[in-house]
Amino acid sequence: MASINSGDHIWHPFTQMKTAAAPIHITKAKGCILYDANGNEYIDAVSSWWVNIHGHSNEIIANAIAEQAKLLEHVIFAGFTHSPAIKLSEQLIGILPNYFSKIFFSDDGSTSVEVAIKMALQYWHNQGHQHKTKIIAFENAYHGDTFGAMSAGDKSTFNAAFEKLLFEVAHIPTPNANNIHLLKKQIDELAKEDTVAAFIFEPLVQGSGGMLMHEAKYLDELITYCHQKNIICIADEVMTGFGRTGKNFAIEYLTNQPDIICLSKGITGGFLPLGVTVASQKIFDAFYADEKEKTFYHGHSYTANPLACAAANASLELLLNNKCQQQIKFIEEKHKAFANSIRTNEAVKDVRQQGTIIAIEFKTKEDTSYFSSVRNKLYQFYLSKGVLLRPLGNIVYILPPYCITEEELNKVYDAIIQSTELVKSEL
Ligand SMILES: *Cc1c(COP(=O)(O)O)cnc(C)c1O
Repeated sequence: MASINSGDHIWHPFTQMKTAAAPIHITKAKGCILYDANGNEYIDAVSSWWVNIHGHSNEIIANAIAEQAKLLEHVIFAGFTHSPAIKLSEQLIGILPNYFSKIFFSDDGSTSVEVAIKMALQYWHNQGHQHKTKIIAFENAYHGDTFGAMSAGDKSTFNAAFEKLLFEVAHIPTPNANNIHLLKKQIDELAKEDTVAAFIFEPLVQGSGGMLMHEAKYLDELITYCHQKNIICIADEVMTGFGRTGKNFAIEYLTNQPDIICLSKGITGGFLPLGVTVASQKIFDAFYADEKEKTFYHGHSYTANPLACAAANASLELLLNNKCQQQIKFIEEKHKAFANSIRTNEAVKDVRQQGTIIAIEFKTKEDTSYFSSVRNKLYQFYLSKGVLLRPLGNIVYILPPYCITEEELNKVYDAIIQSTELVKSEL
């Protein structure tokens, strides 16, 4: 048999090329199943880095892209517009809380965050508040890998090489019943000289940080408080958007709305890269002026790519369909039952769940860490069982495409239950 080409000229993301196993060569995928060149199958229980929502190679989305490609593949988005973008902006504004009115397109999650941060800073700049440049974010935050997004993210091994070049961001703990008063005091202190421009957060679930969860009620209180202190609130829903938390958007659990929202990942159903930054009318109005320096001078070559917008329109229609909404509820119920059954397992330190996301934190000898030694063993173990799960250190989570079947979900749970023996042998 000819050896399988793993690509000698490719440098993979988040991969130590010296020590990593050869990448698995995927030749096709359908629904939740990935098929490799050796004839193995894997259940994609992490939605291919959280982007897929309706399964792989979905016919409806594939056809929407093909049709669009034959009509208009791309056009410059300054001075020109097109129907897929107009339709997507209307669909998004239609399902988001009333408060939002403008959609700014970019390419991915990181750029949607860059845009949001720049919007917030320029919002103040345009109104003569040049001193408002500080950003507040949560500890353990992850907002992407570009410089602004890295700055907003918590300090870690991943961005240590760039630390000196990152701009100043104050990181505060996520809120709970015990610390909420303290957090308000902290914000009070930070906002003393009215220098804070924005507060950016992943609502309810901090993904890369380890699927850490906080209650909507306390986040609501922080948003109210920030608004009182003249701080723009940015919800980074790049991971939580499009049904992950059980509602279309995590901010639907809140009564107080942020001013800006970042969306990407699931937006095209996982077919094509696309980012959007949603702004309230208040934000937009600060840029709407006769002075040209108040313009938002930001854009990317592929802004509002029609193929990506067509995929997003098709994906949104599928998401809003009853069948998909029922699948989301079904996954939520199954996760709840699984959480209850595994919670008492000796290997388990904590189980947390929000909507279609469930995270199981395993006990370890050392502290909870992305570099926990058990991580690679677990990853390989799951693959050997035909399940793609990518533990964040000792935290394993399931974040599946919504079309996952009961049988597939049970297979994922079984692999996790079996892996508890491995975890115990490492304790
Ligand atoms: C993944 C992620 C990003 C970055 O998105 P990319 O498309 O990978 O650039 C930003 N914010 C959150 C919350 C994410 O999970």
